[in-house]
Amino acid sequence: MMRIALLGATGSIGASTLDVVARHPQMFRASVLSAHRNVDALVALCRTFRPDLAVISDPALEGELVRKLRAANLDARVLAGPAGLVEAAAGDHADCVVAAIVGAAGLESTLAAARAGKRLLLANKESVVMAGNLLKAALDEGGGALLPVDSEHNAVFQCLPGGRPDLTEAGVRRIVLTASGGPFRGLRREQLAKVTPDMACAHPNWTMGRKISVDSATLMNKGLEVIEAHFLFGAAATEIDVVVHRQSIVHSLVEYRDGSVLAQLGNPDMRTAIAYALAWPARIDAGVSALDLIATARLDFEAADRDTFRCLDLAYQALAAGGLAPAVLNAANEEAVAAFLDGRLPFLSIEAVIEECLDHMPDASISDLASLLDSDLTARRDARRIIAGLAS
Ligand code: NAD
Ligand code: MG
Repeated sequence: MMRIALLGATGSIGASTLDVVARHPQMFRASVLSAHRNVDALVALCRTFRPDLAVISDPALEGELVRKLRAANLDARVLAGPAGLVEAAAGDHADCVVAAIVGAAGLESTLAAARAGKRLLLANKESVVMAGNLLKAALDEGGGALLPVDSEHNAVFQCLPGGRPDLTEAGVRRIVLTASGGPFRGLRREQLAKVTPDMACAHPNWTMGRKISVDSATLMNKGLEVIEAHFLFGAAATEIDVVVHRQSIVHSLVEYRDGSVLAQLGNPDMRTAIAYALAWPARIDAGVSALDLIATARLDFEAADRDTFRCLDLAYQALAAGGLAPAVLNAANEEAVAAFLDGRLPFLSIEAVIEECLDHMPDASISDLASLLDSDLTARRDARRIIAGLAS
């Protein structure tokens, strides 16, 4: 029986993970569940899954969570705040940690799980983008396995030889990440000037949290994924390509030196990637319907429109610049996306905020977590100042 700490249980990845867990009660148990502020949703999940530990990351809500759990006759222990998340990730309550918190808020618990040698199922791509080298060091220290949950990286992982291969030795020529193109594929910049948060969150193929939905609409999601692929697979920026594939059936591809191209296909449903990562190296039912090739009929591929959607190039530039740049890119993006979702920033200004933050970035490198968090805060302050300036 594998005990699972699901950090970000009330989100979209959280729900898909619990769906797979519930299909395999002999194999998996959700022993830890976390939520940020939604106490009622967390209590409802605790009723169903009976974890040993419930974590509320907003410490102000700890008392309310304890009260509501006890009123429901549930005896789960309660932890709160960012420190509670770290304890839940590293402690003895679970063998496997699913990192499904959105944004930089997931960084410290992800690192803690890696350092503690847990089997780490990584959905929280922002933590790799911010701290790829720190995460690699933490994994080396802990000795546990990292299984990518992001569908593209899960696909690449499935198409590579087992273990953590050296790409050159394995004969890999390049990694090709597929992108759906998001809800605004084919639009021109004049049309993008007026799009609303709800339009940006109406993704054609996937139902996801609002932050990653906006990232998909700007193509920053693919940019973050290029950086994620660099750190997870040791591929240089020049070895990672992006192709737009609007059906989201081919989840990514690996091209080999001999001309072979291996791809992973399936219906767009995150439960496939999650089930693979949970059971790896075994395969289990995920509740996902079989791919109907005849009904699918077509698989289209086209180049990304990098003139209209500039965030993809900004991410490549940040990867090439190295050092702090990916962390600054991520911080500026998180602030700009939050402002867009709040109605404080037009869609096309997201990229402008990120570009300006990258231009004014201090020349520094990341030596440890404290200096990284410090740089993250500085970049966020810069981004907020730029956003306020654009609004006035
Ligand atoms: P979501 O918004 O649906 O859920 C986010 C979860 O994180 C919730 O449980 C929420 O309570 C928690 N959370 C939010 N802010 C927090 C904070 N400050 N501290 C602690 N917890 C906090 O997001 P999602 O779509 O499930 O995405 C989660 C992560 O997985 C993201 O990093 C995203 O990029 C990645 N991802 C998601 C998908 C998808 O299909 N949804 C696919 C690939 C990767
Ligand atoms: Mg993805």
